[in-house]
Amino acid sequence: MFSKKVRSLFSHLAVSIYVYLHILLFSTSTFAHKPVGICNIGNSCYLNSIIQALYANEHLKTVILTVPNPDPLTQPTIYLLQQIFQSLERKDTACINISHLVQNPGNGDIYNGLQQDASETLQIILNTAFFEINNPAHPINFIFNIELETTIHCPHCGQETKKNETALTLPLPLSPRLSTSLTNFLAPPAISDYYCEFCWNYGVLSRINLTPSQTLILTLNRFEYKSGKMIKRNDKMEFPEELNICGHTYKLKCIIMHHGGYYSGHYYAFIKPLNSTTWFLCNDSSVRNVGSFNDIKQSCFGDGKSSLNAYILFFDLVL
Ligand SMILES: [Zn+2]
Repeated sequence: MFSKKVRSLFSHLAVSIYVYLHILLFSTSTFAHKPVGICNIGNSCYLNSIIQALYANEHLKTVILTVPNPDPLTQPTIYLLQQIFQSLERKDTACINISHLVQNPGNGDIYNGLQQDASETLQIILNTAFFEINNPAHPINFIFNIELETTIHCPHCGQETKKNETALTLPLPLSPRLSTSLTNFLAPPAISDYYCEFCWNYGVLSRINLTPSQTLILTLNRFEYKSGKMIKRNDKMEFPEELNICGHTYKLKCIIMHHGGYYSGHYYAFIKPLNSTTWFLCNDSSVRNVGSFNDIKQSCFGDGKSSLNAYILFFDLVL
């Protein structure tokens, strides 16, 4: 029907269009950086959100993917994370199923079919991973651990006592702005339930010095005990995409959102993958590009009335 010349022209055109579309699709952040979804296996939205947050952490991803042959019996959490990270890395499916991995009895504290608190589960996963690696010099110990030096001043004898501890997350009191919460956390109001080591009178907690970690996890204290039961506080709280703390600059990389009350609710995560210019909403199996931080921030801050608001923030140190 067509001459050889026309057929050749068509085939060149088809190849050119294919190459053009390929470059277009994979050079844009949407396709190159779009995370893979994680199927909900029954009340697992809290776990799916945490896994997306941990996988988006380049330091942790490198550490987990390079643990040589973790044993599913003695290192169930490392094994679980490595298997999931490998699946997410392959990007050969729109949504991965983790049910066979979380059924390992060694991971009973991470998933048991019931909705759990994302912040508590996050700490269980990280603490178990540290325990399973069992090497204080291993890089995994330096990603999240925040060093806190608490100073207690004694008004009776004038002495100061210092206490050093490490924390995986900073539990921040709610206030209209994150900077105020951090200031309140680091310079707490006088609390007189600390004993002075010198005269055994009550001392006063005067300040907390903080040596920040590579990744700073901030948990907003939205859940509290009131009138005999746990409630969720939906105060509006604004936070920046870039944070300066103790002379260090941090960039926001992940926001775990919570919608609902203490006893029931739904979690999802906003993720900004490495080198991506846009944010992605990871809601179990559904993943989509949601644009810039300005496009999502109002829903993250909350409006003070709705029960949809940010719960855990992950900031990465800018070197
Ligand atoms: Zn004293």
